[in-house]
Amino acid sequence: MGVLTQIALGVLAISFMTFVAFFGRLPALRHTPIAWMHRVIWVYIPSAILAIDQRLTSGRLTTGLGRFGTYVMYGRHPTVLIFFLLLLTVGEYMYLPGVWPRMSLMHRFFGSISIVLPYLFLYLSAHGDPGVVTPTSHARYMSHYPYDFALFHPGQTCRTCGLLKPPRSKHCSVCKRCVHKMDHHCVFINNCVGYGNQHWFILLLLSTAVLTSYGGILGLSAVASAARTQNPAFTLWKPAGWSWREYLVLLTFGIQDDVGVGSVTLLALMTSPLVWGLLAYHVYLIWSGTTTNESMKWQDWQLEMDDGCAFRRALPADRVRDPQYEAPWTRWPVDPVQVLVRTEDGTPPAPGAGPGVGEWERVWGLRDVENLYDLGFWDNLVDVFVPNYPFRQATEAANSDLERGKRRAKKASKAPRASSLVAAAT
Ligand SMILES: [Zn+2]
Ligand SMILES: [Zn+2]
Repeated sequence: MGVLTQIALGVLAISFMTFVAFFGRLPALRHTPIAWMHRVIWVYIPSAILAIDQRLTSGRLTTGLGRFGTYVMYGRHPTVLIFFLLLLTVGEYMYLPGVWPRMSLMHRFFGSISIVLPYLFLYLSAHGDPGVVTPTSHARYMSHYPYDFALFHPGQTCRTCGLLKPPRSKHCSVCKRCVHKMDHHCVFINNCVGYGNQHWFILLLLSTAVLTSYGGILGLSAVASAARTQNPAFTLWKPAGWSWREYLVLLTFGIQDDVGVGSVTLLALMTSPLVWGLLAYHVYLIWSGTTTNESMKWQDWQLEMDDGCAFRRALPADRVRDPQYEAPWTRWPVDPVQVLVRTEDGTPPAPGAGPGVGEWERVWGLRDVENLYDLGFWDNLVDVFVPNYPFRQATEAANSDLERGKRRAKKASKAPRASSLVAAAT
């Protein structure tokens, strides 16, 4: 096997592992081969190893291996974070000596910034508080969002932490703590992504995506100029009239000319779409006012709706809140207008069951229910990037300001839906 084939295979293997580790658990990929491969790598292979061990050593090592496996799978440890850091640092160490001398002053300036930023955002998202729910932070997080009576209901206590679960929070089984607006536990940063560090995580994705694209494109130009030493007519786009063989021979020469530059360029070009894809997925989550955790819960609701087991009815705005379970006031500018419940057998719940007023109405699709946490892309973005932003005061100020009719119109468009739902039910 030639050096180039080995490099290409190594790069492919790293890209593939990165891809599966990044994307394998995304809800959108639940029924695809990627999710299956993710399970093969993380579940089937480890259990096969355990089964073989059970047979060979009569289970003597199983307990130890099991403990080790649990630690690797579910423990909080920086293995993947170190792998990520090594990939960045070793890549830069192999790449820069070949490319730096050819870079213009401008590229050296922007290149230095794009090298430093991923480290900075990695540190901030890994080291920062993701929004851990503690007795000190509890009251503040309770007043951030109202319960939506669909994904989050008042009165639920975390069995481990012993605290009332604030709306949009989730207990992280890896970190063994409740995290406010929990998105997911990310092994690359060895931390949860939640209310406190979601903006750093998005910036980490953005800066890594820019770095891999920038490095890939600069690397390609280095590869091309190396190939041009053999034939000045070489271009990255196959020149017209050249045979594939001619073109590939020179391209291979360009890549092999400096193995460090060539292999890191290939790695950067292959991982770049993955990082951009993950960034796009998170921008999509912000656009739809949800989190990875909540999008999975909505998918479960969709299954209930497909089975005809989901029902809703109106929740009046003037309902009485139990101060023991709900914050008397939240900074969120909208309040829940609906209750969503599921029944086992698809019969509507009893009229007196649960909160809300009026008849229970069967719901067939997610478009028929309101996502309370979606204020529109701009405000959702503000919610991610401006911690503790006082939405309610801002909305009230905007409503009294005739200059800003746009925001007023948007809020007004939500209000009729809410009032018509209440009106139809009462
Ligand atoms: Zn908890
Ligand atoms: Zn966690």
